[in-house]
Amino acid sequence: MDIPYFRYDFLYKEFKTDIDEALQNVLDKGAFILQQELRDFEKAIADFTGAKHVIGVGNGTDSLILMMKACGIQPGDEVIMSSHTFIATATAAGWLGAIPVLVDCGDDHLMDVNKVEAAITSKTKVIMPTQLNGRICEMDKLQEIADKHGLIILEDAAQGLGSKYLGRCAGTWGKAGSISLYPAKVLGCFGDGGMVLTNDDKIAHDIFCMRDHGRDPKTNQVCMWGINTRLDNLQAAVLLAKFKYYRETMQRRREIAQRYCERLSKIPEITLPPAPNDADTRHYDVYQNFEIEAENRDDLRNYLEMNGIGTLIQWGGRALHQITELKDSMHFDISSLQRTELLFKRCLMLPMNTSVSDNEVNYICEKIEAFYK
Ligand SMILES: *Cc1c(COP(=O)(O)O)cnc(C)c1O
Repeated sequence: MDIPYFRYDFLYKEFKTDIDEALQNVLDKGAFILQQELRDFEKAIADFTGAKHVIGVGNGTDSLILMMKACGIQPGDEVIMSSHTFIATATAAGWLGAIPVLVDCGDDHLMDVNKVEAAITSKTKVIMPTQLNGRICEMDKLQEIADKHGLIILEDAAQGLGSKYLGRCAGTWGKAGSISLYPAKVLGCFGDGGMVLTNDDKIAHDIFCMRDHGRDPKTNQVCMWGINTRLDNLQAAVLLAKFKYYRETMQRRREIAQRYCERLSKIPEITLPPAPNDADTRHYDVYQNFEIEAENRDDLRNYLEMNGIGTLIQWGGRALHQITELKDSMHFDISSLQRTELLFKRCLMLPMNTSVSDNEVNYICEKIEAFYK
């Protein structure tokens, strides 16, 4: 068997007919920048998530930066985030001169909300949880903390489109949320893409302007400093075509997760993420990734590789506080990051996407069983 970690060519194959038609239509019209397909896509995501406004931008890092900028983040402000997140979460703060303050993760690999209060100082402005692996943090508890201390919550929901907590979608819990449309994301385009979700009219207006050279979409006149980070219309057309099948996509990922959980739960050396049918019914997870913890992780990874199975260690194997080249620009207390330290010796992601068949999942599980025997 040959099961790569991700099959990029499948992104087109999966929905070829729909995508061909969508691209042909846009090309025939010559509609490339800020056109109907972008507006339709933004509307579709707003309807689906319940967000009042959705603003498509060039990628999921620009969406983080613009939402922080629109919320008035200033140099020297502190932004609390999990150390187990992509560099882009910290970049968004760093790019505005703000300081990432790193907290530990919990057993579900997401920000440990019980450790947030200890990280708050007089300079803290934002709590920025990452809705990691397609799962949402305990946002009700986090909101209580934010309210108590007068802080705002901004979500890095890059990995979370369609995931829910207490019935509410990722990206709609905070003052604003950012989602990535990178090809390997649950909803991915054929290049870079991202979007901001918000219910706040002022934040939405500012981001609509900032993404397009600071021009007000109503008057087309410059009203503030902006940059050029528009989600382009061809990508929006591709996304719209794929989004028709999004419920099936989420469902298939949950089936794969369920299958992994059933087969691997008997192996004591493996710790699994919460299963789709987990007793904690507050969460609806979309499994952007299936991140396990494994004893002898590196040997397991090599063994799977020898058997044709691709795996990945998130962020190239380093949590934010382990990026020595940048760690002087971030605040953290290593003794408070013990769960993350342990996790990065053990974490491993198994193939998780709609190209993976039941047979392939069975084969992967068989090989993991064989390794520990
Ligand atoms: C993918 C991702 C981003 C943004 O990525 P882009 O490649 O800029 O779209 C940000 N944060 C997290 C947690 C991500 O996984």
